[in-house]
Amino acid sequence: MKITKVWLDESTDECTSCGLCESIAPGVFEVPDKMIVKENVDFDAFKTNIKDAADSCPVSVIKYEEVE
Ligand code: SF4
Repeated sequence: MKITKVWLDESTDECTSCGLCESIAPGVFEVPDKMIVKENVDFDAFKTNIKDAADSCPVSVIKYEEVE
């Protein structure tokens, strides 16, 4: 499985700008205000950290897409 897409989904809740995702995966996430996903990132190189950040986000607004 390969992570091809990572995004902020605020359809059910809002990013609280807690900074946890950036501390878990600073190569992928930045939190200047609300979280943003950095551009031109090889998401697959950070697969474990992206999943960890998504699982750890207190409001579950980090989404990712995995394909075969
Ligand atoms: S862990 Fe979740 S709530 Fe916290 S800054 Fe990241 S996206 Fe926002």
